[in-house]
Amino acid sequence: MERLDFGKMSYGCKHYHRRCMIRAPCCNEVYGCRHCHNEATNMLDSIADRHDIVRYDVTQVICSVCDSEQPVARQCTNCGVNMGEYYCEICKFFDDDTSKEQFHCDDCGICRVGGRENYFHCKKCGSCYALSLRNNHSCVENSMRHHCPICYEYLFDSLKDTTVMKCGHTMHSECYNEMIKRSSFSCPICSKCRVSGSFVRNSTRGCSGGRHGVVVRVEVTVEAAIGDFVLVEAVVRGVIGAKATKVCNGDG
Ligand SMILES: [Zn+2]
Ligand SMILES: [Zn+2]
Ligand SMILES: [Zn+2]
Ligand SMILES: [Zn+2]
Ligand SMILES: [Zn+2]
Ligand SMILES: [Zn+2]
Ligand SMILES: [Zn+2]
Ligand SMILES: [Zn+2]
Repeated sequence: MERLDFGKMSYGCKHYHRRCMIRAPCCNEVYGCRHCHNEATNMLDSIADRHDIVRYDVTQVICSVCDSEQPVARQCTNCGVNMGEYYCEICKFFDDDTSKEQFHCDDCGICRVGGRENYFHCKKCGSCYALSLRNNHSCVENSMRHHCPICYEYLFDSLKDTTVMKCGHTMHSECYNEMIKRSSFSCPICSKCRVSGSFVRNSTRGCSGGRHGVVVRVEVTVEAAIGDFVLVEAVVRGVIGAKATKVCNGDG
């Protein structure tokens, strides 16, 4: 085995396989990765001490194979291993698991996963979106630069998948699915009427042009997830119910 590959995939934290730890420039502590840092520092008792690391500011790493601290670089100057099979010198980011197909987007300014060829950067939304969304989504200014309306985690560099809704607003896919399970069908940000889910269900909501009092059978397709982003495609297939005045309880 080549020296460069020594220890590959056998070190790291719960977030990444990597062969180094980082020294946080903000508090001078050593962490497995920036998420390890942020999780720890945001649990500190004193609110004044809570903070996030600025990834670009990291200057020192500690090789996990030989324990030597050194300036950020891909290869350990002491033992010669790659501290990350993927390495981004802008983000000071290391990851041995290249099956994630990491790439650095200059417009986002951060590394993303899922393969560069599967994404485009939407300048208006301010983030990389799956190719299936090109010319096929409602742009919302800096749509990804806000917190998930359900769990309040910042979406832009979240490790979790994000769903882009018809209205262009975004939230975590898992939070989205939770919301759907609880039969909540409107965007929590703009409250635009919207139906979705990977199932067929009868809806009494006036989603298709406000047909209140009519049972609308709604068939919905959710396009396959490509990397981080999912296009939610809601298609109203047809009205199968006739007048059903009792079922509309003033929803909207
Ligand atoms: Zn810190
Ligand atoms: Zn970590
Ligand atoms: Zn080393
Ligand atoms: Zn990067
Ligand atoms: Zn981007
Ligand atoms: Zn857009
Ligand atoms: Zn969320
Ligand atoms: Zn919305």
